Amino acid sequence: RKPVIAIDGYSSTGKSSISKIIAHQLGIVHLDTGALYRGITYFAIKNCISENGQINLENLFQRFHEITLQFKQVEDELTVLLNGTDISKEIRTNEVSQQVSLIARQKEVRDFLLEKQRKIAADGGVIMDGRDIGTIILPNADYKFFLTASIDERTKRRFLELQKLGIETDEETVRKNLIERDKIDSEREVAPLKKANDAIVIDNTNLTKKETIDLILSHIAG
Ligand code: C5P
Repeated sequence: RKPVIAIDGYSSTGKSSISKIIAHQLGIVHLDTGALYRGITYFAIKNCISENGQINLENLFQRFHEITLQFKQVEDELTVLLNGTDISKEIRTNEVSQQVSLIARQKEVRDFLLEKQRKIAADGGVIMDGRDIGTIILPNADYKFFLTASIDERTKRRFLELQKLGIETDEETVRKNLIERDKIDSEREVAPLKKANDAIVIDNTNLTKKETIDLILSHIAG
């Protein structure tokens, strides 16, 4: 049976890009669970805005039955489709980033996504990255890692990534958003961002992507 690997950590510590490469090297698939929370947030922004301009949470919860999330395997990646549409780019905008942690802290939202995530790991052969994978979603994962890095380094990385995607922003906006999301994610009651007791911590502030990947692979091989 191929391994199940959980990667958690703070925003922009490279979880997803690192997981993607590891998936390729081990011949398993990668799921970026943040895309699920971002997808729900995108749906809410499109469909559940009340007159005051805020997301109406009750309305969102009542409309869960209108949301279909599918996973399409593209190479080693499980791309998330929302109601049949690939929204990979739309979910990276500042607007979604600014709302997503408020949506992700809702118990209803987490309950809605829980089994969908577990099902993907049921047969093994997956690396899943997020905030609560090692603690809540896959407590029995074969390997667990928790990534961290300095806020300066993370800001730099996320800014470059958004630039590459052609999303207009500035470093200060990115920094504020990372700090705010980490705070909401760590302080929420349901499934907070937390290191699992048995996770290996990797601070990659001064590591290249390749060094982080090699470090993780050395634990898996050993
Ligand atoms: O990974 P990414 O930064 O795209 O995640 C966006 C947001 O989704 C996080 O800030 C967090 O609020 C939420 N999230 C979560 N649990 C996960 C993955 C993401 O709460 N497993």
